[in-house]
Amino acid sequence: MKRKRLDSQGNILVGTTAILIVSLLLMAVFVITAINFIHNSNIDSEANDNFKYIIDDYSNNLEILGRDSIAEATQKVYNGLPVFNSEDQIKKNLNNLLEDENNEFKEKYDIDLSSEVISVEPTDSPWKVLFKVKLNGKKGNEEFSQIVERNASIEGLRDPLPIAKLTIASGVMAYDDEIHYKTALSAYMILHNLDSPESYIEATAPLYMKKCPYDPYIHHGDPGVLKDCLDNGYFHESADGSCYLCRLEGKGKCPHYGMEVFIQTHTPIKNESLSCSDHVVFADHYNGEKINPDDWDSLILDNSHRKKYGLSANESY
Ligand SMILES: [Zn+2]
Ligand SMILES: [Zn+2]
Repeated sequence: MKRKRLDSQGNILVGTTAILIVSLLLMAVFVITAINFIHNSNIDSEANDNFKYIIDDYSNNLEILGRDSIAEATQKVYNGLPVFNSEDQIKKNLNNLLEDENNEFKEKYDIDLSSEVISVEPTDSPWKVLFKVKLNGKKGNEEFSQIVERNASIEGLRDPLPIAKLTIASGVMAYDDEIHYKTALSAYMILHNLDSPESYIEATAPLYMKKCPYDPYIHHGDPGVLKDCLDNGYFHESADGSCYLCRLEGKGKCPHYGMEVFIQTHTPIKNESLSCSDHVVFADHYNGEKINPDDWDSLILDNSHRKKYGLSANESY
């Protein structure tokens, strides 16, 4: 009996010691990791502090050069050339622009920079494209390597989709801040066996990417709003519409969060025809009817778009 008691006391002692040792080990590991982490981040922040103003300057320029490299891809489409992979095309454009930039920084800050565009991506906002660039710098004995990220805005750029989709040979034209479809859309509709292609002869759409300020969109049913939206040629966010990067490739819809714009018909014809949101015209192909059958310039819309924009049938706006 006595012996047994001693045994259990011994067990308790061994157990407690083991727990103590394990705790001490864990604490030691934690302290060493923490010291290492603080040490490393000190080195990083020291190096980056010395280069901070250069990296900041570079990042700010990336916002502008990123947009310029997208605009170059848009120009290629408007020159009648296809863009098969917009990410690759924009990367190529930006790498060229950054080469000049690196030379300018050599003059300005006496630093050796090398850069490579890692990615060009759509974002949660259809109005922004995310750029990631790996930037390496060397000045004297100091070096840094960092990934620089910036969003570039596509607002104010031309919509490449109509040209990329229909090609310049179709006769579609851009002037007076508008896309003029002439007979290009009707020809496209005949080719795809769509109803009342004659309704879309001489249809027009906005040329420049402008974000509609009437948000939430249901306010388009309020007096004067739709007219102002059409007069200004605004674009609207849409999960079904294609993003700017896919528009460059001539895709009417894509998996990314995108935008849609109304293609406006100018016709006395009252037949049912394609609903006029551009993703419907270029990809989804379902019908709608004029909001106001007696108005030559009335939008042709299906029920779900009427709901989204607060527009019901047989009313004049
Ligand atoms: Zn609008
Ligand atoms: Zn897309």
